[in-house]
Amino acid sequence: MIPIYYNEYYRKYSFGPLHPFDPVRFPRFVELVNDTEAMTEVFEVRKAVEASLDDLSLVHSETYIKKVLQLEKIGGRVSPDTPVKKGAPKAAMNIVGGTIQACRDAAESGSAVNLGGLHHAGRDYGEGFCLFNDVAVGAQMLADEGKKVCVFDTDAHQGNGTMDVFYQDPRVLFISIHQDPATLYPGRGYVHEVGKGAGKGYTVNIPMPRDAHTADHAYGIDKVVEPIVKKFAPHVIIRNGGSDPHHSDTLTDLGLDMTGLEYLGRVSKKLAQENNAGHVELLLSGYGPRVIEGWLAILKGAFDPSIETPDDKVFSSPEDPPSRAVRKTIEELDDILSAYW
Ligand SMILES: [Zn+2]
Repeated sequence: MIPIYYNEYYRKYSFGPLHPFDPVRFPRFVELVNDTEAMTEVFEVRKAVEASLDDLSLVHSETYIKKVLQLEKIGGRVSPDTPVKKGAPKAAMNIVGGTIQACRDAAESGSAVNLGGLHHAGRDYGEGFCLFNDVAVGAQMLADEGKKVCVFDTDAHQGNGTMDVFYQDPRVLFISIHQDPATLYPGRGYVHEVGKGAGKGYTVNIPMPRDAHTADHAYGIDKVVEPIVKKFAPHVIIRNGGSDPHHSDTLTDLGLDMTGLEYLGRVSKKLAQENNAGHVELLLSGYGPRVIEGWLAILKGAFDPSIETPDDKVFSSPEDPPSRAVRKTIEELDDILSAYW
């Protein structure tokens, strides 16, 4: 059985009723899994255990943790788009706990899912609807245990928080494929951002133009991600990112259809299998009407072909040729990365 970590605190991960992040996604998704007989044969919803302050300290500074807890008491925000509402820090700590558990399963060469992926929070900052970075805490924990970790971030938004935490750390290979930062928050993740010091070459950013679809993503993944991951030979692959690369998403402009999200799940599993690595799937993002459908598409690709693919237009398949712009970006990136890989 593949565990999906969750508990009742996740739904308190809220920024208020008018905010685009709607936490009702968590209980709705878990209900759907539990009510779908075919899914209960593959997945088991397990109770996440709250992360401790020591766990958070693996990544976040004491000053920042204190600031978040203080803002919860007095009211305020860590950034203009991220208020700290009552109960939200505890909810984030539970989400971090779920990712820690999923990473422990993966360290034993297993597979696990958490409803997490708060990738915009860095050591000393929170933003982009992220208070504490569960992806980074999980990766740091594994790296400290001597594991080589690949974080494969397929969210439409680049994972700036995770990138910053590991920018100088060669134990964690951070790869992000995302919408061109010139056209979307966080405005980070250009091809020339490759890491620093000992971490040079261990950060890989693959920007995709607006409306990029499956064939474009697949080209970047075939040409860049697969060969680098093979050379790095990770013990664990943590893929993070939910439904926001889907064309229906209200905050982003990428053009993946449901088979594209399914492809992302499938390719992550392939990367894990080819490298004999543990596999963590983190699902969280998505804004608009099709968030949960997108998560199902990803899980279908990663673990369970019997899940029905949600109805959608199909723009392209992974075998189709990419756009000219994507070909050019990948050429440029290949040139830059050839110094390291
Ligand atoms: Zn996102």
